[in-house]
Amino acid sequence: MSDERSTLSGTREANTPRAADAPDAPAATERESRSVSKDDKRAEKAERAKAKAEADAAKALAKARAKAEAEAEKARAKAEAELAKQQKAEAKVAAKEAAKAEAGGAKTTDVPAPEADADKPRLRWKKKELPGGLWLKCEACGETIYKKTLLKEDLVCPACTFHFTVPGAERLQMVLDEGTYHELAADLEAMDRLDFTDTVSYAEKSRRTIERLGFKEALHLGTGEIEGRPVVICVLDFKFMGGSMGEVVGEKVALGCELAAERNLPLVIFTSSGGARMHEGMLSLMQMAKTCAALDELNRKGGFSVCVLTNPTTGGVTASFASVCDITLAEPGALIGFAGPRVIATTLKQELPKGFQRAEFLLKKGQIDAIVSRKELRRTLARLIDFGERAWSGGEGA
Ligand SMILES: [Zn+2]
Repeated sequence: MSDERSTLSGTREANTPRAADAPDAPAATERESRSVSKDDKRAEKAERAKAKAEADAAKALAKARAKAEAEAEKARAKAEAELAKQQKAEAKVAAKEAAKAEAGGAKTTDVPAPEADADKPRLRWKKKELPGGLWLKCEACGETIYKKTLLKEDLVCPACTFHFTVPGAERLQMVLDEGTYHELAADLEAMDRLDFTDTVSYAEKSRRTIERLGFKEALHLGTGEIEGRPVVICVLDFKFMGGSMGEVVGEKVALGCELAAERNLPLVIFTSSGGARMHEGMLSLMQMAKTCAALDELNRKGGFSVCVLTNPTTGGVTASFASVCDITLAEPGALIGFAGPRVIATTLKQELPKGFQRAEFLLKKGQIDAIVSRKELRRTLARLIDFGERAWSGGEGA
C-alpha cells in the first residue's frame, strides 16, 4: 500500500509542475492538443491509481479496526473471566473460614505445637479487626477468629496459641479473684511540664485519651487476690498511649513498691509497653532510675516481686522495672526488647538470629526465668507467691 501511495504522490508531483508550467509555455496548437490529451490520459491514470489506493487504504483501515476491536473484546472477556475466578476463590475462602468458625473453639485436634510457631517471624502485631467487629484475624497464623471465641479463650488464638495483647481491665479480671480488685491512686494524671507539642499538645492528647478510655493513666495500681493470696498489683495498659512510662507510671510503680513493703505483700507487675513516654522527655527517662530504686528498696525490706512480661514489652520499661524483679516471667511468643529489631538490624548491618527478641529466645539466653501460658498464669503466680513468702518474709535483707 505504501508503495502505491508513493507512486501516487510521485505521479502527482510529476504532474503539478507541468500543469503550472503550461500557461507560461509558448506552444503550437497541435503540440498543445497532443500534450493535453497525453496529460488527460496521465491524469486519468493518476485518478484511477488514487482511487485504487484510497479503496485499498480504506479496506486496510477497516481490517485493522476490526482486528483491534476483536482483540479488545477478547481482552475484556479475559479480564472478566479472571475477575469472576478471583471472586469465586474469595467466596470459597470466606465460606471455608465461616464454616471453620462455626465449628468454634471445640476444634483442638489439629492445633500446631506452640514451639513450632515461636520461631516464626511475626512482623505484624497490630490487632486487625474485620468489618463489623465480630471477627479478628490472628496476627501470627492469619486465622479468622470469632471474637467471642477469642474472648472465651482469654485472648489466645485457638489455632496457634498466639497470645494477644490484653488490655489492663481485662488483665485484672483474668488474673485476680473475682471482686477482689481495689484500685489505688486512680486520680494521678500526667502533667505537660515541657509544654510538648507534636501534632497536638501532649496535654490535649492526654486529655483525649482519658476521655476515650475512661481512666487516667497507662498503669493500673491496686490490691487484690490471686487464688486467695493478697497481692499488690501493677498492670500496664497498652491501650493508653502504648503503655508508655511517664512520671505517673513511675510514681505508681514506686507507690506499689512502698505499699507492698508496708503491708508485707508480694508485688505482681504486668508489662506491655512501648517504652518511656517521649512526650515527657528526660522526666520519663528518670522513671527508669526511680522504679529500679523503689524495687531495690522493696527487696531490701524483704519484699517479693514478680514481673510478667507480655507482648510487647520494649524500651525503657524493659530496661528498668520489668527486668529487676525477683522473678521474671513472660507469655509465649511475647516481643521483649529495648530497641526494635529493625533498628538493631540496620545499626549492626547484620541479619538477626531467628526468633530474636521473642520470649523463647530470651529464655534460652537467661534473661527470663520461665514462659507461662495464660491458662497456667494464676496457678503459677499463686505457687510463686507461696514460695516468695517463705523465702523473703521477715525481711532484714534476704
Ligand atoms: Zn493464630
